Amino acid sequence: MSGRIQLKSREEMRVMARAGVIVQRALAAAKEAAVPGATTGDLDAAASRVIAEAGATSNFLGYHGFPATACVSVNEEVVHGIPGDRVLAEGDLVSVDCGAIVEGWHGDSAISFIVGEPLAKADLALVKATERALWAGIAALATADRISDVSAAIEDVADEARLHPLEGYVGHGIGTEMHMEPDVPNYRVRGRSPRVKPGMCLAIEPMLVIGTPDSAVLNDEWTVVSLDGSRAAHWEHSIAVHEDGIWVLTAADGGASRLAPLGVTPVAP
Ligand code: MG
Ligand code: MG
Repeated sequence: MSGRIQLKSREEMRVMARAGVIVQRALAAAKEAAVPGATTGDLDAAASRVIAEAGATSNFLGYHGFPATACVSVNEEVVHGIPGDRVLAEGDLVSVDCGAIVEGWHGDSAISFIVGEPLAKADLALVKATERALWAGIAALATADRISDVSAAIEDVADEARLHPLEGYVGHGIGTEMHMEPDVPNYRVRGRSPRVKPGMCLAIEPMLVIGTPDSAVLNDEWTVVSLDGSRAAHWEHSIAVHEDGIWVLTAADGGASRLAPLGVTPVAP
């Protein structure tokens, strides 16, 4: 990673937190809309409404031509699913990824959940382990020397749960653009990774699959599916690193409730 990493002031982080909380509300609305019989387009509409009513802008809509406000990925779809007229059924594993811009500053977050009752225990275990991997990565960031410390923490949770981080898809820096330097891999990679510095804002986003870590992109040129058809989950938060600690920008409480059991107390920027 040779590019420049954008460092933010605390004031800029506070604007990013405003965008982040809107994203979290949009995801909650999408989840609430995800009942059996609803379409993936209904989830997108719910998220879209929240962002518009908050006076924010979607950073997904039109991104390299992406046609919606949220990515809605179902079952073997891992990320970048295009919402539309697909009807959700009981037991579907849904991942919703969404973002918003406030005053030029971006937020990006994703959740996974099961519609109604899970069909298999493994599906619920997958969703929970991926969420756990996210929070382990965030907790690691609080004391990380390098980005690789975050990657290692995510991979360790995946290993322990006998799941696999999807290969080739990573988290990223975030700020005045959604996708910026540095990469934040969900697994250990060769070579030295960038040092964690105050002013960095990162989107940490583990994508775990039950089967092999290989994927393919569907003919719609967006939807990423697991190559073996096994189910996948995806969780994401945007997090700020400043002189006094970290703050989860896409959580209303800065991540306090989820980080407390991991021994980390977030500090507002
Ligand atoms: Mg995202
Ligand atoms: Mg992202």
